Amino acid sequence: MTLLTDATTLVTRGLYYQGKYGTWDLFWKGAHDMTFGAGTTPMDPSRVYTDFHVHIHRTTDPRRMLREAAKRVDIVAITGRTEDFADNHHTLDTFLESCNDHTVEIEKLGENVAVAEVDRKTLYLIRATEIYPTEIIGVVSVGGKLQRRYERHGEGTLHDTISDARDHTAFWFIDHPFSIASPVIAFRYPTEDEVKRRIEIFRRYDAMIETNNHQNTWWMYLSNEIATAVAQEHGLVGIGNSDSHFRLRDIGLTRTSFPRTMLDTSTEEKFLASLQTAFSQQQHIETGFASDWAFAHYMVIAGKIPAYQRVAVRYNL
Ligand SMILES: [Zn+2]
Repeated sequence: MTLLTDATTLVTRGLYYQGKYGTWDLFWKGAHDMTFGAGTTPMDPSRVYTDFHVHIHRTTDPRRMLREAAKRVDIVAITGRTEDFADNHHTLDTFLESCNDHTVEIEKLGENVAVAEVDRKTLYLIRATEIYPTEIIGVVSVGGKLQRRYERHGEGTLHDTISDARDHTAFWFIDHPFSIASPVIAFRYPTEDEVKRRIEIFRRYDAMIETNNHQNTWWMYLSNEIATAVAQEHGLVGIGNSDSHFRLRDIGLTRTSFPRTMLDTSTEEKFLASLQTAFSQQQHIETGFASDWAFAHYMVIAGKIPAYQRVAVRYNL
């Protein structure tokens, strides 16, 4: 029943949203990236490139991760999740332990930010946490430790999670706000009613929303179109991230950059305050989409078979 309902929503809503929100630019970009993979332009030294939604597998070689991230970003968030994901997801703390075990030199700017010199480039690592409360609307908070305990996916309320993020982290955003999780087809489109209710919620909390999520590939690319249109219409700040699930080569393929003059790296406090200021307004997003290969291997097959996930990570598929 779920499959039938979700597939119906997918087709009917897909056509409807393509007409209402779809742009040919993103349609062709999606088709290109799905087939050939996304690319990025060289980094402009006067800008700071960020990817604040990145999941790193516990078995990843930290040296390889740092090298890969430094190719495309200046700041990367190690995004932990609820405790039931702790067996395969690194947090900033476990990643730093792994650096230690592998004798990778990395310095702490404070509790929430670390800094590494990688191929003569400075790369900052920052703490992030992704929580899905009962409403199954994801909150990613960046640059601080949440104070409550988050044991399981789908527990607690959105209100409490947002309050915790507001009080204890530098900034937060709602990730892929218009992709609705569904068991069989991964993600489906929201119904009109779900769009309306989500807009009300985002406006109530003046939320930043992830308008460009790299894993919103295949039919999900339209979720990015809906999010972009909603952010523009309602004056919400948008952000773009890779949401890479353990695939190092996806880091920074969707990214957000801001002028380097805005970043103060003298102390962790000032570093976080400058990010907070930068992301209180719209910054520049470069968008891409996961390729068929990457999505199939890391999101579909690895999502169902944990042993395969380790193989994908190990052989850098
Ligand atoms: Zn995530």
